[in-house]
Amino acid sequence: MTTSKPIVVLGAGIAGISAALEAAEAGQEVVLVERDSAVGGRVAKLHRYFPKLCPPSCGLEIDTRRLEKNPRIRVLTRTDLVAAERTDTGWKVTLREEPAWVKPSCTACGECAKVCPTSVPDPFNFGLAKVPAIRIPHLDAWPRRYAMDRAACPADCHQCVEACPAKAVDLSAKERRIDLDAGALVIATGWVPYPLEKLPELGGGVLADVVSNVVLERLASPSGPTGGRILRPSDGRPPRSVVFVQCAGSRDVNHLPYCSSVCCLASLKQTLYLREALPETSVTVCYIDRRAPGRNESMLSKAESAGVKFVKGKVGSVTCAGDGTLRLKLEDQEAGRLTELEADLVVLATGMRPASGELPLHVPRDEDGFALEDRASRLFAAGVAKRPEDVASCVRDATGAAAKAMAAARSH
Ligand SMILES: Cc1cc2nc3c(=O)[nH]c(=O)nc-3n(C[C@H](O)[C@H](O)[C@H](O)COP(=O)(O)OP(=O)(O)OC[C@H]3O[C@@H](n4cnc5c(N)ncnc54)[C@H](O)[C@@H]3O)c2cc1C
Repeated sequence: MTTSKPIVVLGAGIAGISAALEAAEAGQEVVLVERDSAVGGRVAKLHRYFPKLCPPSCGLEIDTRRLEKNPRIRVLTRTDLVAAERTDTGWKVTLREEPAWVKPSCTACGECAKVCPTSVPDPFNFGLAKVPAIRIPHLDAWPRRYAMDRAACPADCHQCVEACPAKAVDLSAKERRIDLDAGALVIATGWVPYPLEKLPELGGGVLADVVSNVVLERLASPSGPTGGRILRPSDGRPPRSVVFVQCAGSRDVNHLPYCSSVCCLASLKQTLYLREALPETSVTVCYIDRRAPGRNESMLSKAESAGVKFVKGKVGSVTCAGDGTLRLKLEDQEAGRLTELEADLVVLATGMRPASGELPLHVPRDEDGFALEDRASRLFAAGVAKRPEDVASCVRDATGAAAKAMAAARSH
């Protein structure tokens, strides 16, 4: 039995996609709303993902095929929530869809990008490369359609319109307002990385060769700004020594008081990227605790067997010597003394903050700002919007949220 009222899932990362698919495959109408031009969220930006260390396209490709085939799911990309009002039987939802500068008839042939005279920092690669103002958002993007950064276009430029054989570029497109009567809402808006700039004592935002863990994913990826070669941003040289600083701004009352639960595993995975790509490079991880639970525990022994060194101690500062070498000061807790390490590249394992803070509706939250469900209000949460977790946990979580949202939407 289906209900006439759809569930609205906000955010099409792995959690939102999973919630939408589970509900739709069980007979529920679903509207999946994504702010970006393509679905996949932050998983799409990973080079590989644990536990299997496969590229994100492995899982995402299967999911986008399921999305494509399912008539019960309406996917709205480039769309934001403008307002959500509680009604007796659900939510009155108002959405704003950005103008469709590039229409669904786009064949992704790329002729428009070839003639585009403007380049902009690539948001997919954290601004580390430049891309044309009209482009495919990333290699595996779905919907497979070009997107335009209209604000960057020179006045009176029509080159992409003229170059498009499918007549899919429309510079006069208008934004669209969409009103929906929803049976339940699922918040799956995910996370944003803790800003590097908030950690200047660790060189964050100050020293070019101090990068975040999310940037390292892009540096290691063949579709990243360096074509998969892990190079120092300052001089383009491969680093001879790399130090990972764990809990950078996490488990710290001055920053994020909580553990983001995936940073240890993310760094262990990234040490393997380095050992594989640069076998001569020394790799050290400075940690407070090494958290690799369940079947991911093998990542620790893999890193140890690959020659990664571990030092138990919280790093207090990172500075740069005149020759560009980075110096880290820390307390080596096992040796019981202050010590220094040198590195060519430092990776700060920064944590995850919930992205749901800016939503135009009241979302109940825990003390760290993550969303809580409110069954009485037919409001549910899934994935990192709810708590920091890995992909497998997000998928499980999303399945639960889908079941609860369906039950709520079907009760009158
Ligand atoms: C460095 C690093 C490496 C990692 N590596 C791994 C790994 O190897 N394996 C693993 O299992 N996990 C890994 N993780 C964790 C993994 O990234 C998360 O589990 C996953 O991204 C959570 O998915 P999500 O859908 O909850 O959120 P997200 O991936 O953040 O997706 C949320 C989506 O919601 C959209 N959105 C946000 N706000 C709105 C809005 N208002 N309206 C519409 N849409 C909105 C966003 O654009 C985005 O598409 C890693 C994390 C880090 C920090």
